[in-house]
Amino acid sequence: MIIALDGPSAAGKGTLARRLAAHFDLAHLDTGSLYRAVGGRVLREGGDPADAAHAIAAASALSEADRLAADLRTEPVSQAASKVAAIPEVRVKLLDFQRDFAHHPPGGRTGAILDGRDIGTVICPDADVKLFITASLEARAERRFRELQAAGAAPIKRAVLEEMTLRDRRDSERQAAPLKPARDAFVLDTSDLDADAVFAAAVEHISERTRSRRA
Ligand code: C5P
Repeated sequence: MIIALDGPSAAGKGTLARRLAAHFDLAHLDTGSLYRAVGGRVLREGGDPADAAHAIAAASALSEADRLAADLRTEPVSQAASKVAAIPEVRVKLLDFQRDFAHHPPGGRTGAILDGRDIGTVICPDADVKLFITASLEARAERRFRELQAAGAAPIKRAVLEEMTLRDRRDSERQAAPLKPARDAFVLDTSDLDADAVFAAAVEHISERTRSRRA
């Protein structure tokens, strides 16, 4: 089974993907971490993430250390990730790894869940189940604000909202694999739902889909 899980930042994809992976015994790939690794590497090398030549070279040379970098989830790396992600050749460099993970999941698993922006549309258009998890900009910014606070930072609400707006716009308006639901995706707005309700709705949809595919 391949599950494609797409949506904007802070919609709840990461939490949902981990829970679904555990529930259905699937391998999980957070594909955003690949773009973060590329963006972070360019920043560490003192480059501009919007510089295509540098970003493509970083994507070609990507190492395990880049994927495990301590600053992977920081705001500068988030913005750098969305800049390198707009470069088509960077996306091409990361394509085979993601497809291979989906079709040959590691750890002896018989299926995989990949979360990102273009899994249902580009990486795995043949996925058994496609979920698109979204929420209002305000709800997502509020979640990110609380996450940052819980991590001990002192975020400024307006700055969080502005950074999220910028990244949303870049991810949705780019030419290469823009963020959008696949035509056959199950769209779930999580603005007024907690993580348990989102998980329950997703499990119900996946169970229904797999039942109807078997019938
Ligand atoms: O999901 P996350 O916030 O970690 O993703 C970081 C950035 O990577 C996104 O803002 C987006 O630009 C890019 N991305 C992408 N395609 C994916 C996953 C992430 O373009 N499948």
